[in-house]
Amino acid sequence: MPTQRAFRIHNDDAGYRAGVEIIEVPEPGDGEVLLRVEYSGINYKDALGGTGQGKVIRRFPLTGGIDAAGVVERSAHAGFQPGDAVIATGHGMAFDHDGGYAEYLCVPGDWLVTVPDGLDTRTAMILGTAGFTAALAVHRLLRNDQRPELGPILVTGASGGVGAIAIAILAKLGFDVAAVSGKPELHDWLKALGASQILGRNELPGGDRPLEKAVWGGAVDNVGGDMLARITRTVVPYGNIASIGLAGGTDLRTTVMPFILRGVGLLGCESVNIAQPLRGELWRHLATDWHVGDPERLLTAEIALEALPEVFERMLGGRTHGRVLVEPGASG
Ligand code: NDP
Repeated sequence: MPTQRAFRIHNDDAGYRAGVEIIEVPEPGDGEVLLRVEYSGINYKDALGGTGQGKVIRRFPLTGGIDAAGVVERSAHAGFQPGDAVIATGHGMAFDHDGGYAEYLCVPGDWLVTVPDGLDTRTAMILGTAGFTAALAVHRLLRNDQRPELGPILVTGASGGVGAIAIAILAKLGFDVAAVSGKPELHDWLKALGASQILGRNELPGGDRPLEKAVWGGAVDNVGGDMLARITRTVVPYGNIASIGLAGGTDLRTTVMPFILRGVGLLGCESVNIAQPLRGELWRHLATDWHVGDPERLLTAEIALEALPEVFERMLGGRTHGRVLVEPGASG
């Protein structure tokens, strides 16, 4: 039986632990596709699952990695042939099914998206779930009539994967983007991505009244908690907030006033279980009219599987920025 290197996560009597192991390459069953993983990436959820700091994995042991892009090796699914370049993100990956931190990945073909013209497997994983979720947020905002004329769009957690890509897409679409970041040293980088102004995490205007002066046309929020609450109070009538993340907390203490007196829209963004047609549509946008330009400017590191734990710790400590590419085929 052929074998491969994989980043395996265990949770048993010996405790929560993860590392690179040699395991068998699976054989695709009916409807499944085996791909050789060329690239994966690191998302916040990967860091939670890889360290055990978040309960995001349902079955152990499991190969981590909610993202993968690669080339079909063997297919038992009518829609895919050997040699096809494909993307797999979300679904059950690194939840109750092995994920992309391995040299090979076997998944139901129904989870796959063909890499669209305009992207390749490397660029797809520089974007990864972070870019896909940024695209989802933009889609939700536009569908709910967000327009540049409503005013600047706030992007919180701006230096993170989702935040950085959201800035690039929104700026490309003609929105005035205000970035909220706790990393003053990255102001030039955020501006180069498209932010026109940058605020520190504690510099958001407005106080704790149910409604404060409305200054933002809308927002893409990766932080949650007090930051999101403050934003709800300061968005203009019929502006929208795309709620994506919880990097700053899961509580949301606000009132109904922004929603019933200003018509503010709070739009949930969930990237894992999106229906395939919308999944394909968002990847096509990322390949064409929402293309971020030179994707390499988002990239801050390229690593082998062995380096995952160190990056996970830095990410959870808020000490990473942009995107980290993982090459499962590279030796550590
Ligand atoms: P990153 O770690 O790359 O980015 C998160 C950013 O949030 C950091 O770079 C930092 O930006 C900021 N941040 C970190 N800690 C805090 C804090 N305590 N208070 C305020 N800001 C903080 O993660 P991702 O971009 O991959 O993900 C962002 C969020 O979105 C995560 O919460 C993640 O779980 C969520 N997510 C949700 C998805 C969905 O389907 N709903 C899909 C993908 C991600 P800075 O230093 O610039 O302020």
